[in-house]
Amino acid sequence: MSGPSFQYGRAANIGDALIRGSRAGAAFLAGGTDVLQLWKAGVTAPEQIVDISRLPLGDVEFADGRLSLGALARLSDVAAHPDVTRHHPLIAEAILASASGQIRNMATVGGNLLQRTRCPYFRSHSLACNKRAPGSGCGALTGENRQAALFGASSSCVATHASDLAVALTALEAEVEVLGAPGKRRVPLSDLYRLPAETPERETNLAAGELITAIHVPDASRFAGRSTYLKVRDRASFEFAVVSVAAALRVEKGRIVEARLAAGGVAPMPWRLGRSEDALIGHPPDAQTLAVAGELAVEDSRPLAHNGFKIAVLRNAVIRALQTIASRP
Ligand code: SF4
Repeated sequence: MSGPSFQYGRAANIGDALIRGSRAGAAFLAGGTDVLQLWKAGVTAPEQIVDISRLPLGDVEFADGRLSLGALARLSDVAAHPDVTRHHPLIAEAILASASGQIRNMATVGGNLLQRTRCPYFRSHSLACNKRAPGSGCGALTGENRQAALFGASSSCVATHASDLAVALTALEAEVEVLGAPGKRRVPLSDLYRLPAETPERETNLAAGELITAIHVPDASRFAGRSTYLKVRDRASFEFAVVSVAAALRVEKGRIVEARLAAGGVAPMPWRLGRSEDALIGHPPDAQTLAVAGELAVEDSRPLAHNGFKIAVLRNAVIRALQTIASRP
């Protein structure tokens, strides 16, 4: 049996990677934990594979409270790094909630942010899916949509984003550093992803051939003692989120002075819960305040036939995550 044909090339340096990556039909290969699944399943079929796994982009650096992750840093190395566990525990928690230990040993942080949706219609090339085959329809819209989005979806696509790390980084207002033919630029994570609208096949605002080279996280030491990543899933390990919440608070003199909340498993991108954050400010972290934040988190939800249960799960996950960190000394 013959498989798809492609050309393989290992990038000698970053400049070489950019040249190779800009060619039509090219795809970057780093840890390979997601893209190899997609190629083997025939969901994607790159003509040229650009292996970037040996590029020197794996460093983890910490200075003045700010964290920089090379895009090729392995999930397991980042989660175990002492500066991450001490100053950015939200990131470590989100990573440890992701995948299996074996996958975390291979997967890179850059690749994790760009992983594709787990929508079963997308991952089966015999089913209708606008994201995989534009114009073919969205099987999940009226079919099996238990995992589908509550926010940000369109009639073209209702899929959710799968990364736990991206949810934590969104709450921490991280940026990705991107390198391409025009040069280097920084993109807030909130601007990296696109909502599906009529073009669900375009998931990010990266131009063709652009490469994420690093992730920059601002100083979050003020949240280190009061942050948590709560992941609700169908089984205890190696499972994607039904709903997840990244939460961080700063409390002074018994009142919340700063709040960060982002949700996963509920939208095509990590979903910042801005109204819940605003409602927390100036109030004591008591049951009434947290209940209001939970209610606002689900205010604009638009459930489909089979995912309405996620509304209660998200509301309760927000409250539970806030309870967990508010009760810390
Ligand atoms: Fe495809 Fe998106 Fe519809 Fe899933 S929800 S079938 S990924 S178009």
